[in-house]
This record gives sequence, structure tokens and C-alpha cells, in this order.
Amino acid sequence: MADPPVRTIDPWPSPAPAGEPLLPPIVAASIFTSDEDQPPGYSYGREGNPTWTALEQAFGGLERGHAVVFASGMAASLALLLALVEDRSRRVVMGDDGYFNIRTQVSRLGRLIEARFVDLDDDASLGKEMEGRPAALWVETPSNPLLRCYDLDRLASTAGQVGAALVVDNTLATPALQRPLDHGATASIYSLTKAASGHSDVVAGAVVTRDQALWDRLRSWRTLSGGILGPFEAWLVLRGLKTLELRVTHQSASAERLARHLDQHPAVRRVHYPALGSRQPFLDAQMPSGCGPMLSFEVAGDAQAAAAVVAGSTRIRPATSFGGVHSTWERRARWPSEVAPESLIRLSVGIEDPALLTADLDRALGVLESPTRAWVGEVSH
Ligand SMILES: *Cc1c(COP(=O)(O)O)cnc(C)c1O
Repeated sequence: MADPPVRTIDPWPSPAPAGEPLLPPIVAASIFTSDEDQPPGYSYGREGNPTWTALEQAFGGLERGHAVVFASGMAASLALLLALVEDRSRRVVMGDDGYFNIRTQVSRLGRLIEARFVDLDDDASLGKEMEGRPAALWVETPSNPLLRCYDLDRLASTAGQVGAALVVDNTLATPALQRPLDHGATASIYSLTKAASGHSDVVAGAVVTRDQALWDRLRSWRTLSGGILGPFEAWLVLRGLKTLELRVTHQSASAERLARHLDQHPAVRRVHYPALGSRQPFLDAQMPSGCGPMLSFEVAGDAQAAAAVVAGSTRIRPATSFGGVHSTWERRARWPSEVAPESLIRLSVGIEDPALLTADLDRALGVLESPTRAWVGEVSH
């Protein structure tokens, strides 16, 4: 397949004609004028908007695909699920470690969609599920919060053997680090709320595909379900995209450095980051520029100890979500529906100086070494 003409967003576009705005404007319009004799480019605001189009061209271009943008990642996944099962089997096989709201969403659609959850590392179980000829195999890689990675070339071939679509939730890596469509995926799905927009100021979602029929169905489900993005939100994502590659490659390098530091820390029991330890060989081709801004680690102690560490930082902010320019973290098991060890902290590394973050981590972990703390006995290993 030929190389794409443009792989990154050009933050310095060629000059617009004099007097024209340099960048795509925010078009706030619910209706567009029309002429009965000419099919309108745009007519009603729920069907299309020029600011969405600008974002869809920019974002879709990163994967050499066509994007459809939505009000949120969840609106995108709902439309994608409905589009997938519309003309194929009702069954969807999903990794059992994907984003918990999507697992909840598909389970609640039980009358329409038959979801089968499977450990994607268990070849025998996966093979058995695929024998049921599902409409799609749905995988999140790297997963969160445990950062498990799956070989997309291998899964694309598993799905292809039974004519199923491979769907990849690529929210964590973004197209700057991993391009699932180049590894045989039918569609990539994104929460643009996270690293793609990157500034923690907008909620948005997208699906990218090279399958024309799927693209048409996604646009039609967006119009019929009404989960549309506001033009201002589309513009905010577009602005964030200009620095996507700069941000996520820097964040990945910092995350790897912090992961290695934590791996040596006496108050840390276990670190989860794809670049650590025995890095899976397929990652060199699948994620050549970095493993993403997120890592997680288990402190040597209980839930209370982990909560004390989170509270002990002066620089890393306690907050959920990930991928923003500010470093944030949370004890993941504070969410009742999350399956995570109770002392696991999920850390999203921002664009701050990694030396300052390392010092801050040491300070925060220092609360576990204080002799006044009850859990000090658990720290040694
Ligand atoms: C956040 C997230 C979603 C959902 O996206 P929203 O924009 O919050 O609706 C889906 N998948 C993953 C992996 C996410 O992290």
C-alpha cells in the first residue's frame, strides 16, 4: 500500500488568500441556505457542519481513513455498535479488559446485541468465540488500567478468517503512536476527550474507517441518534490536534522514564507499562514511537496507603481521565465498577519536566516510609 501523502497535521498551513482566516473558522449554524435544484453541501445542523468536516479531514488523515465525529467517545461507540450489527450477526466479541463504560453499554443493549467477553490472550477461548461468526471483534490496546497490549496483525487475521470486523479502541495511543487501520483493523474508535484533544477542556469522540459502507452507516446513525458535536467543541479538538505528535511523543518518553524510576522504588510493588520488562516483540512495529502517556503501579500497601500517596503530591493532580497536558492520577479501584488491584494508582503523565515529576513522585511515595504511618510494615520488599 502506498505511503500516505501527509502523516501529521501541518500546524503551519500554506497561506490562505489575503484577508481570509488562516485556520478553519467555527461555523455556528443550525441551518444552511438551500436551492431546490442543487443538492446542498450542508442543510441541517444535525447532519453536517463545516467545522466537523475540517476536524474529520484532519483526524481521518492521520490514519489515511475517513472520520465521523461524535459528541463523545460513548456516542461514537453506540453508533459503531449499531452500525456493525445492522447487517451481520448480532454478536460482538470483546476483550474483557476494555473501557468499563463500553462494556456496560454493550451489555445494556442485550436485546439488540449479544456481547461475548473474552481474555484476548487466551487463544483457545478466543478461537471458540470466533466460531460463532460474530459481526466484530472489539479490542482496546494498550488497555487500561493494566496496559496490556495485543498484536493487531494477529487479531486482524483471526477476525478476517470468519469475516468479522476488527474494531480497535485507540484512545490511549492516538494515531500519533499507533495506526490500527494499517494493521488490518476495519475501524478505530476514539474518545477525543483524552490525548487526541489533550487539554482537558472538551468531550468528543470519533470513528475512523476506510470502509465506505460502514462510514455511510456511521454518519446515518449519527444523524438518527443525534449525538452530535458542537462546532466550538470540534474546533477545540482541531486546535489540540496541531500539537498531538509533539505532546504524545514527549509524554510517552516521560512516562517510560517515570515507569523505570517507579520500578526501582522500594515503596512500589509492581509497575505496568508496555515498554518495561519483556517488551512484546510486535510492539516495535505496532507502536514504534512510544507506548503512550499512561502507566499504572501498585504501591506496597493497601487502599488507604495508595490514597495517601495520591493525596501527597504537590504537582500531579488528583483527577480521573488521562492524556492531558497536566499530569493527573487516581486510585483506580475507587470506582466500584473498575476491576483493579486496590492499591493500583493510574498515572497520566503530562508535558511537565519529567525531573520535577520524578521528585514529586518520590515526595508523594515518601508518606509510606514515614514511621508515623500504620502501613510502614508492608513497605519492605
Ligand atoms: C474515555 C474513554 C471512552 C469514552 O469516551 P468519552 O469521551 O468519555 O465518552 C472510550 N474508550 C476509552 C478507552 C476511554 O478511555
